[in-house]
Amino acid sequence: MRGLTFDGALRYRDDLPVPEPAPGEVRVKVTVAGVCATDLAITAGYMGFHGILGHEFVGRVDTGADGIATGQRVVGEINAACGHCPTCRAGRPRHCPQRTVLGILGRGGAFAEYLTLPADNLLAVPESVSDQMAVFVEPLAAAFRIPEQLSLQGNERVYVLGDGRLGLLCAQVLHLSGCRVTLFGRHPQKCAVAAGWGIATTAADLAAGAERADVVVDCTGRPEGLQLSASLTRPCGTVVLKTTSAHPPEWNPAPLVVDEITVVGSRCGPFAPALAALAGGRIDVAPLVAASYPLEEGTAAFAAARAPGALKVLLIP
Ligand SMILES: [Zn+2]
Ligand SMILES: [Zn+2]
Repeated sequence: MRGLTFDGALRYRDDLPVPEPAPGEVRVKVTVAGVCATDLAITAGYMGFHGILGHEFVGRVDTGADGIATGQRVVGEINAACGHCPTCRAGRPRHCPQRTVLGILGRGGAFAEYLTLPADNLLAVPESVSDQMAVFVEPLAAAFRIPEQLSLQGNERVYVLGDGRLGLLCAQVLHLSGCRVTLFGRHPQKCAVAAGWGIATTAADLAAGAERADVVVDCTGRPEGLQLSASLTRPCGTVVLKTTSAHPPEWNPAPLVVDEITVVGSRCGPFAPALAALAGGRIDVAPLVAASYPLEEGTAAFAAARAPGALKVLLIP
């Protein structure tokens, strides 16, 4: 089959084996996949992953299983857990130490004609959600992880740093939760998109003078994001760290101690509320699509996704 692999270099190949589903797994024919900052970070050495990249997808079930019919349109939770270790039994399967992660850890990904995942990971996509919307469920679920982790009252002052793809989704989800959200961005056209959703926006270089917030969400994708976030968080407030970077920050975290700031690492989130929000029209992803490329032009797609200010680049197998 055709696919995009990383083995120290990003390559398009047409000689990849079609993956065989293991017991309990389903093979999915990918319809649309999305390029994410994590994919770009992997090509810079993050996670040390070699194989087929990609974890944001919508597709159709190719080999059915119990409870899921062939041809069903699906999205899929990307962490494949063992299901029986103490972590899984404690209800934290996304942290299973034996897990594989689609296109990130020990499992070929979505930038290919076919992928495999456990049947339990798949969610049926309702008719009202188009493929171009459904491909956003995975990053949107990561944004829905924030209200799952924080007990928000709904009136907090929240800053979202970074107007990239994830920053725009986090700002929308927190705005939906009733928080007083300000998005700090570097790109006027992307801040304008957020303003169109009724979200306050400010130029990133004005952050230094801003009043400190209850919660600051770092979606900068930069190693210095944590330091900036801490400086904008009120004493006893919370920093939510969404950035994963291949490069460590050079920063003395003493301000976290002095101001007693809680740092919450935040990765993958729940698919069901993300899919429901798209189906209910409560979250708008249409302005986030920058361009679509065929799989054969994967290298050009990555270059486009890497361009400063780029929104979501889609790959069509
Ligand atoms: Zn992603
Ligand atoms: Zn487990």
